[in-house]
Amino acid sequence: MPAHEAAGPTPAPHGAARTDAAFRAVYGAAPTGVWAAPGRVNLIGEHTDYNDGFVLPFALTDTTLAAAAPRTDGALRLHSGDVPGGVVEVPADALAPGRDLGWAAYPAGVVWAMRDAGLPVGGVDLHLDSTVPTGAGLSSSAALEVATALALDGLYGLGLDRRELARLAQRAENAFVGVPCGIMDQTAATSCTTGHALLLDTRDHTLRQVPFDLTGHGLRLLVIDTRVRHALADGAYAERRAGCERAARHLGVSALRDIAIGQLPGALADLAALPDVRPLVRHIVTENHRVQQVIARLDAGEPRAVGPLLTAGHASLRDDFAISCAELDLAVDTALAAGALGARMTGGGFGGSAVALVEDAAAQQVTDAVHTAFTAAGHAAPRVFTARPGPGAHRAA
Ligand code: ADP
Ligand code: MG
Repeated sequence: MPAHEAAGPTPAPHGAARTDAAFRAVYGAAPTGVWAAPGRVNLIGEHTDYNDGFVLPFALTDTTLAAAAPRTDGALRLHSGDVPGGVVEVPADALAPGRDLGWAAYPAGVVWAMRDAGLPVGGVDLHLDSTVPTGAGLSSSAALEVATALALDGLYGLGLDRRELARLAQRAENAFVGVPCGIMDQTAATSCTTGHALLLDTRDHTLRQVPFDLTGHGLRLLVIDTRVRHALADGAYAERRAGCERAARHLGVSALRDIAIGQLPGALADLAALPDVRPLVRHIVTENHRVQQVIARLDAGEPRAVGPLLTAGHASLRDDFAISCAELDLAVDTALAAGALGARMTGGGFGGSAVALVEDAAAQQVTDAVHTAFTAAGHAAPRVFTARPGPGAHRAA
């Protein structure tokens, strides 16, 4: 294998034993347990989650581990092996949204959300470490929240189900950290299962495990982390979201999910007076349709046929939703030119990661081509790795 770790299997998840040992080193006592939650890749269904639509993520084998023990004095002591700065300490009863706690706002927000929901959660010592790349569109934030939520559930015997855990984690991110994300990332972290992608209907929150076996077909999904994140991302998210809501109001539907693919031409005609939102509507309606088509191909045992749908999804995000960027387009175009069956940007846009569906035999050439193209374009080296669908959140020790 050449210098880029690229096409090989992802590194084995680091052990719970290491996290346990790190907890002891930080706090001088044993944790009660270690809990794990994965990062995720969204196979398809982008920006559909705030339109009551469909998403199809799967869990990475990269996880965030949380070693934790309860405290009787109501203090939260929060430590991460992945960020410098030592232990962050804050009393549980002093938590309030808007307080600047840096990275610690994610786990503190989970404690706050649980207490705000009336759950009997008090102090905790928490140590985190993670193999999920941060800020790469692979949802390290939800992995952190859900690992924390599951740890608190275990420590305080809350008996929460996966849906409740996901909602509390989302509330932490929305109301405490201040990021207006949908429910996809937290649901993926709680509810994905090994060997499956997870169909989430964001309207009624029903779930379906969709068999996603690429290995048995001699295929793999490469994740290309561009390692860039452009500054326009947050503003663009709010703008796209507002545009979709404006279009739905004009069309008299509660969300764009209600426009079926066959109704798209009529809807676009009805939006003649709002030309700026027409491409947004076209993306959301076709994207929801693509999710259904991808599932049909996977159900039929034809994963190769998913490739062109991924590529069509990228074109829609680039041309209609206008949230791609030079690095993502280069990753996708290069992967396709080097033999990928399909490729698309994944995540919110303006950076983060792309995915490419490739034959096992083509993985290395696609990886090498992407590295070469990034170097030639003067971009920082991307990180390319194979993603296999791993388990959702669980107790690891
Ligand atoms: P993504 O979820 O795509 O990785 P976000 O910006 O939503 O990107 O979340 C990344 C942030 O989450 C980091 O900047 C950091 O504040 C926090 N975070 C994620 N993982 C960890 C970790 N292991 N330790 C400390 N903070 C983390
Ligand atoms: Mg995130």
